[in-house]
Amino acid sequence: MVEATRVPPSACPWCGEMHDEAESPSGRAATVGDITICFDCTGVAQFDGSMMLAKIPPDEWAALPEAVRDDYHRTRALLLLMKSGRWGGQA
Ligand SMILES: [Zn+2]
Repeated sequence: MVEATRVPPSACPWCGEMHDEAESPSGRAATVGDITICFDCTGVAQFDGSMMLAKIPPDEWAALPEAVRDDYHRTRALLLLMKSGRWGGQA
């Protein structure tokens, strides 16, 4: 089971929704530099040095390993499917 860990309250840089928790498939607590996905708008962000959410500059996004970008796209697709209510699970 994935457990949420507390992070300093921070607004999503894309939609402005406030977040104070982060989850990791591994269960590891979020740390500086981690990439995260906003569950509200599915925007990708990164924890800056103060653990605030920040947009990732396009050149830094492009420099990330392909596996990381693929994980984001798969997770985003799953979130959008969950939000659509078309998967039969709980959204
Ligand atoms: Zn957002």
